[in-house]
Amino acid sequence: MIGEGTQSTNQRRHNYVQENVEVGFFTDPTVCIGCKACEVACKEWNEVPDDGFTWIGNSYDNTGRLGASTWRHVLFLEQDCQKGNQITGLMGLSDAQSEDPFRWIFLSDVCKHCEEAGCLEACPTGSIVRTEVGSVLVQNDVCNGCGYCVVSCPFGVIDRRPQPLPDAGGAFKCTFCYDRQKSGLVPACAIYDPQETSVRGIHAFFLILGEPEAYGLPPKPQVPTIYLKSAWTSALLTSIAALIAVLGAFLFFG
Ligand code: SF4
Ligand code: SF4
Ligand code: SF4
Repeated sequence: MIGEGTQSTNQRRHNYVQENVEVGFFTDPTVCIGCKACEVACKEWNEVPDDGFTWIGNSYDNTGRLGASTWRHVLFLEQDCQKGNQITGLMGLSDAQSEDPFRWIFLSDVCKHCEEAGCLEACPTGSIVRTEVGSVLVQNDVCNGCGYCVVSCPFGVIDRRPQPLPDAGGAFKCTFCYDRQKSGLVPACAIYDPQETSVRGIHAFFLILGEPEAYGLPPKPQVPTIYLKSAWTSALLTSIAALIAVLGAFLFFG
């Protein structure tokens, strides 16, 4: 798709919001080069504040994780195995066989805009809504900062912004560039991606090499509300047992 100019999938205008067409990301780490242009584009378009220029010290990945001020995060995954026909060792200058194989995999991670969104189910104020294109949007002017959404996201995506950043206390995450989508534009992170690793799909798909745990992703994501039925059943049974015990005590000692 590179070099196709206005014919590129990332350049064409659409009417998805007006026509209620569900869309999403497809992210392919096999072509990602870890340039972090998507991260920068997200920051720039959404005017997301910097999160401290912290040097984490164990990777070239200086942003570390998704958060209230990192709505897209390019994960640097360092693994001790070869990537395809990659020449291992010091830039291929030494004997490759004598060097430990090493590969870098990059995954441009983002909110999954889940079909069953734990954050949306947990929010007591109605701040989190489902949009016409199927994405999950936080309305920051309605959010009261309770944090229920933070503990209900199985992917650790949404977070509250700490002091002294602007709008501190409120919950923030990727908006799926709802403002751009309403104008027929694709998300900022996808349009500035030189490799076009993120294209249209349903909500958020990721092609990953190996196990999801290696990327810090849960192997079987669950929203906490699936335990509501068993929790309420346990509470009811406990109440009945307590009532019987109290009545029994009155009858026995009364
Ligand atoms: S914040 Fe978490 S639970 Fe909510 S839509 Fe994104 S990935 Fe899903
Ligand atoms: S912190 Fe805001 S968005 Fe999250 S659950 Fe509370 S009110 Fe809803
Ligand atoms: S869709 Fe928009 S808000 Fe979400 S990561 Fe991409 S640029 Fe940021």
